[in-house]
Amino acid sequence: MPSSRFRAGLGRPSAAPAEIAWFAFHGDDLLVRAPGDGGDRFDLPIAADLADLGVSVTRAQPLGELDGRACRSAELAQGAPAPAGYAYVSLRRLHGRIDPELFEIAGTAYQVQHWDKAHQYCAACGAALETGQDERVKRCVRCASNYFPRITPATIVLVEDGPRVLMTRQARFPAGMYGLVAGFVEPGETLETCVAREVHEETGVDVADIVYFGSQPWPFPHQIMVGFTARYAGGELRVDTRELEDARWFHRDALPLLPPPLSIARKLIEAWLARPAR
Ligand SMILES: [Zn+2]
Repeated sequence: MPSSRFRAGLGRPSAAPAEIAWFAFHGDDLLVRAPGDGGDRFDLPIAADLADLGVSVTRAQPLGELDGRACRSAELAQGAPAPAGYAYVSLRRLHGRIDPELFEIAGTAYQVQHWDKAHQYCAACGAALETGQDERVKRCVRCASNYFPRITPATIVLVEDGPRVLMTRQARFPAGMYGLVAGFVEPGETLETCVAREVHEETGVDVADIVYFGSQPWPFPHQIMVGFTARYAGGELRVDTRELEDARWFHRDALPLLPPPLSIARKLIEAWLARPAR
């Protein structure tokens, strides 16, 4: 992450901690300081101990340093209302309402606290796990099994055919919105094999010239979306209705409602629109 404010790390200060920047989650919602007079941006709670604000931390993990302060993820005890002047806000709702850099770190923090919460005991032998000091890992005190944070890769692809783009629609999408073919990587697959398989399974279309575009962590709860472009290489469009509500070719001059700017799908589409049809 290009940043002057944040430095990732696992440092655990031994002395009593000074002020800490907290990414503290109540369920899936982040504890944030409400905007002051005239402002519209949320900010982080800064405190040596969140108990000073009247909420209690169930468990916490170091994230690094933010603006020279220690920075931690935390899980809050359930049920306590947000302190006066603060609110619990979901990550999706926070987008655009908090500094973009803090939003990115919040995604990391969410994944770390999710991993911390889900890995208290060894899946192999049931003994307690302890947190590694030098790397992000939990180790079984009895059988030495390791548990790293789980990151699940998925591919997403923009398939073009001259001035047309292949777009798909899932039933849960907002009315009128279409996205791009996406799917999880299976064991043994390369990312490119996954792209070709997903496109063929979902739409019956074959693709060629699969080219990496970029990637995006997607902390809902622990994916990384790996984006590609590809060219139509044959096949009749037929929709796999078990996965999709619809799939269509759209002309670049007549696109449907697009995915939100937050998404890599939108960035793929905008990058395609920005270059001439080929
Ligand atoms: Zn074990």
